Amino acid sequence: MTGGNRGIGLAIAQRFAEAGDHVAVTYRTGEPPQGLFGVQCDVTDNAQVEQAFKEITAHQGPVEVLVSSAGMTRDTLLMRMTEEDCTTVIDTNLTSAYRMAKAASRTMLRARKGRIILIASASALYGAPGQSNYTASKAGLIGFARSLARELGSRNITVNVVSPGLTETDMARALSDDQRTAILQQVPLARIGQAQEVAAAVAFLASDDAGYITGAVLPVDGGAAMGH
Ligand code: NDP
Repeated sequence: MTGGNRGIGLAIAQRFAEAGDHVAVTYRTGEPPQGLFGVQCDVTDNAQVEQAFKEITAHQGPVEVLVSSAGMTRDTLLMRMTEEDCTTVIDTNLTSAYRMAKAASRTMLRARKGRIILIASASALYGAPGQSNYTASKAGLIGFARSLARELGSRNITVNVVSPGLTETDMARALSDDQRTAILQQVPLARIGQAQEVAAAVAFLASDDAGYITGAVLPVDGGAAMGH
């Protein structure tokens, strides 16, 4: 579980822990959440990713479910966006999934089973002004997941995407009131989502009940991106 120290990642980690699973979270800053095994890891650094997998495997055994949730925004209009604004967001949100999936799939291929779940965003499907770097990274996750689903399916490894809409976390709290209002006007359920609602979708995709689902994009967005 990457980005498991706060927000959606923490809610997912807690959900698995409550179900009795062995959970390992990566955190970049601060402390690991209380009661959960944590490994410090910046997902943009491949050496740290490799080290995190070593520590997690030594502590808890092979990774059976990978949830990649670490992510960031650096919102600005294209004309003001520096190349670094673009590449940093893509590295953190998209290339990190490549690093994580590559490390996790090694043991999953050996075990001939596994679940990879990537957290994208509804905005990747309908676009968002000022977020071209972010939406490109999140749309990239969908193509990445679908290709992996084809590469790994014969080994009983499923690869799926959960696509949250606006969800009550620090990331959403960073938006202005005007931005929040504009987004919520597009949500049929007319409210912001809760991190626990995203966690429930992830738990389903990791469960035995979802054994015949791969390459899917599961929206948890109050209907905002339906039809996309
Ligand atoms: P938060 O901003 O609350 O948390 C972001 C998490 O990502 C933190 O754990 C943060 O760690 C971690 N992170 C960021 N950069 C790195 C890095 N380089 N290395 C390791 N960890 C990193 O975000 P949310 O919980 O809201 O978002 C979780 C995921 O859900 C993200 O991928 C986001 O894009 C996606 N999402 C969120 C939506 C929302 O409305 N909230 C909507 C749609 C998608 P640290 O604490 O150390 O900074």
